[in-house]
Amino acid sequence: MLSPYKGQFKITQTQHSNHGGLDLVGLQDKSIYAIADGTVTFAGWENPNNKKQGFGLYCSIQSDNGNRIYYGHLSACNVKEGQRVTKSACIGVEGNTGRSTGSHLHIECRYNGDRNRRKFIADILGIPNAKGAVVEVAQQPTDTYTVKKGDTLSAIAKRYNTTIRELTLVNNLANPNLIYGGQVLKLPNDTAKTNPYPEPTRNISKGTVGNDVKWAQWALLNKGYSIGSAGIDGICGNDTLAAIKRFQSDVGLSADGICGKLTRAKLR
Ligand SMILES: [Zn+2]
Repeated sequence: MLSPYKGQFKITQTQHSNHGGLDLVGLQDKSIYAIADGTVTFAGWENPNNKKQGFGLYCSIQSDNGNRIYYGHLSACNVKEGQRVTKSACIGVEGNTGRSTGSHLHIECRYNGDRNRRKFIADILGIPNAKGAVVEVAQQPTDTYTVKKGDTLSAIAKRYNTTIRELTLVNNLANPNLIYGGQVLKLPNDTAKTNPYPEPTRNISKGTVGNDVKWAQWALLNKGYSIGSAGIDGICGNDTLAAIKRFQSDVGLSADGICGKLTRAKLR
């Protein structure tokens, strides 16, 4: 099954002769995710002078197989025309823009954008075309980060190789300048999963500089160890050293602060 939501969603309107797609309401999470790889063919208002018209704020994403998926009535749109989008990328947030009377997603498929060649989106998603049905999506694991006192969103974004905008969207933040200690932020998918830095072959210790250190810093962060406010800076200073020692101690290694072969194996 494909899903534009994470978690449960409800089908509030079926596709039929007068309704070209499905209306869906996210029950746990309002973020909208691309259901297929493709290129953004439109992103913006259907009519910038009348925000209650048609799909309101929407985007369409064309896949190589001809399917062009429309995501309508968004409250925020995270993509722009011409952009390549991969499946399950967060593309926006469910909303109530356009001709809509309550927050929902209108999702529709037109072959190459031709409104006379609509496809049954329920078949594409692998769900029933049934009003009222609640669809349970196998919950994809969501990576989270708990905000520490003094954190800024830009520092968190830098640490997790994402952007303020994406963090704002994924978490539906009203004001990115107002985050607070203890707040749990969702991290956009595909971050914090694969270490983007090559695994070092040399030991890392206090004062080591370079991508080798970034590998260790990324791995430490990914395992929940704070490495200080500088984030992944490629410098093994006091904060990174302390994180290595805490990690070593937690996994039963001697806490010597030297990230050698054994420590790297545990960090992998
Ligand atoms: Zn609709």
